[in-house]
Amino acid sequence: MFELSQDHEDFRAVVRDFAEKEVAPNIAKWDAASYFPTDLVPKMGDLGLFGLVVPEEYGGAGDSGDFTSLCVAIEELGRVDQSIGITLSAGVGLGINPILTYGTEEQKQRFLPDLVAGRTLAGFGLTEPEAGSDAAASRTRAVRDGDEWVIDGAKAFITNSGTEITSVVTVTARTGTNADGSPEISAIMVPAGTPGFIVEPAYHKLGWHVSDTHGLTFEGCRVPVDNLLGEPGQGFKQFLKTLDDGRIAISALAVGCAQACLELATDYAKTRIAFGRPIGVNQGISFQLADLAVMVEGARLMTYKAAWLKDELHAGRRSVAEVKHAASIAKLYSTEAAVSATRIATQVFGGNGFMEEYPVARFYRDAKILEIGEGTSEVQRMLIARGLGLPA
Ligand SMILES: Cc1cc2nc3c(=O)[nH]c(=O)nc-3n(C[C@H](O)[C@H](O)[C@H](O)COP(=O)(O)OP(=O)(O)OC[C@H]3O[C@@H](n4cnc5c(N)ncnc54)[C@H](O)[C@@H]3O)c2cc1C
Repeated sequence: MFELSQDHEDFRAVVRDFAEKEVAPNIAKWDAASYFPTDLVPKMGDLGLFGLVVPEEYGGAGDSGDFTSLCVAIEELGRVDQSIGITLSAGVGLGINPILTYGTEEQKQRFLPDLVAGRTLAGFGLTEPEAGSDAAASRTRAVRDGDEWVIDGAKAFITNSGTEITSVVTVTARTGTNADGSPEISAIMVPAGTPGFIVEPAYHKLGWHVSDTHGLTFEGCRVPVDNLLGEPGQGFKQFLKTLDDGRIAISALAVGCAQACLELATDYAKTRIAFGRPIGVNQGISFQLADLAVMVEGARLMTYKAAWLKDELHAGRRSVAEVKHAASIAKLYSTEAAVSATRIATQVFGGNGFMEEYPVARFYRDAKILEIGEGTSEVQRMLIARGLGLPA
């Protein structure tokens, strides 16, 4: 696979146009104010971005969409702004996907049409103050009391969990103990506004200022037992599967970041004059840009190979193990490439690169989290090594 289909490229042009018109003119001001642009979300919904992997009966694209298209959309939004890209990536990967994959028909009918239309957003809370990479160390508990779960605990850093239009957050919680003594972890949907579900104030973040991120506290929070998502005790496994797709999406976000840096820094190197000539004449600059172009190419190829494998898995032609391995490889390479790309671009811009008036400064701040969220680089290396058959 050396190029995307014409349909994918046509779709890319549509999303690029949207990002240039709706996001680019506003993003500096939104970023400076850490403002979440609620009104943008239904516009993204109108474009079909939240429904690319969702069947038609829930308002999605059905057979005319696929995971590759979702990655194209995330890359193109991410090329203009990473926060908007992650809003889509998390909205689909962490919000819609678990409900679509594990939900009952009633749960799907209840939540998906609004989520797909961009009228609402959903989040997924796995991480806790003391359980991130080691997610199995989760302490949040859900105890059954008659027809209800009573949830107590805390979640950290949950994307899309506190917007005005957040309808539900699915959280993992200990619901018992397995026969081998390990905690039984289940996933439970907690609708926004449920008493005892407390959305903490927004974090003061290094980057992703326009993305919504909150800590969540649960104090005697009661939801109906029917809010269990999927099988009891399968919450952890379900979430790990959800993360495989999320990693490819983050990889696409990283490609958008690196692509933006390549374009911005190349243009600047052609026009910025020092010592009487454009700085791009110097090999100290041009070789860095050449390296950046190689990184973008590598990251894009790995990302779309993983996305293609995911679509092939959906069609029953590839295995879960192949997708997992490709997803971790793509995520590791692309996110590290994006961080390097922002460093190179900022350096090419010199002092201007340190100024918020220039988008490279925002990309520089935004890139770091790519190496951390949805499994750190170290976790990806562990998974890749495991995929090679090395002992866990
Ligand atoms: C802006 C933002 C948005 C997020 N959104 C969500 C969300 O929507 N839902 C959600 O559930 N989570 C979310 N997260 C959480 C994110 O997934 C975690 O931060 C991430 O998984 C790392 O966990 P941690 O922060 O606890 O770091 P830790 O697990 O404490 O790791 C600290 C460091 O130790 C390293 N490390 C840990 N164990 C090992 C080991 N065995 N070998 C080598 N190195 C190791 C890690 O790689 C890392 O470098 C978000 C985080 C941020 C910052």
